[in-house]
Amino acid sequence: MTDVDHAPHPPQPFPGVVHEQTVHAVGGLGAAPQLEADRLHLRHVPLILMYHAVVTVARDPNKICVTPSRFAEQMAWLERHGLRGVGIGMLADAMRTGRQHGLVGITFDDGYVNVIEGALPVLRSHGFGATVFVVTGRLGGTNDWEDGSAPSWPLVSARQVETLAAAGIEIGSHGVNHVPLAGARPAELSSEVGASRAQLAAIIGTEIRGFAYPYGSMDARARQAVRDAGYEYACAVDVKASDKGLMALPRVYIGQQDGVARMAVKRHLYRGYIAIKGRRS
Ligand SMILES: [Zn+2]
Repeated sequence: MTDVDHAPHPPQPFPGVVHEQTVHAVGGLGAAPQLEADRLHLRHVPLILMYHAVVTVARDPNKICVTPSRFAEQMAWLERHGLRGVGIGMLADAMRTGRQHGLVGITFDDGYVNVIEGALPVLRSHGFGATVFVVTGRLGGTNDWEDGSAPSWPLVSARQVETLAAAGIEIGSHGVNHVPLAGARPAELSSEVGASRAQLAAIIGTEIRGFAYPYGSMDARARQAVRDAGYEYACAVDVKASDKGLMALPRVYIGQQDGVARMAVKRHLYRGYIAIKGRRS
């Protein structure tokens, strides 16, 4: 299976004309905007960045690391352009009132310990927020769902989840076992999606608002399971236009190669990119 979640996305400028597609208007420009529908008009889909690890390593075959200095450069670029990095819960709140302009979602999947040292000080220095999606069955463990060729890196413990939450970082669920959810059986969906939410809520003492699909893998039943479990939103990666919504927010992979020029390209062509992805998926 393709490891969508961890595979680098096309590094080159996305082809494309921006086509705003159908789907229900959400939030935004009209009076009394509502988020009752969980489909999103492309115009309202904010830029959401997907990171994993923030660390300097010798070997990174899945290209899931950015160095702390590269991350700092990327966050400084956002601020220089009048953009503010926020967690996805805050982004959803802003979308509800049509005030998402200038906000960029920042997400970290898997819950690597190095996010605490490599990213948190940088986020704080800019006054930015972020969401970290952790794998509840691996707290204090390693990313052992990867195949043997991938380096093993430590994942945050329950205590470190508390530390992140206390620092103002939103904690979301990335499932219990980091398994793909497209085609999953109901019992597995319920466990991966629902049990992980309950476990995290018990650790940090607040409701868990968001989920991120491992490998970006989901289907209509997975989205329904996320909704049924009480989440407000879920992050995916590439999302078909017809599936796009609060239960399937598209994200853009950001990697070590993404210097300021590439950040600019990704920002400006983002909507065209996700529209095209949506048509092709
Ligand atoms: Zn993951």
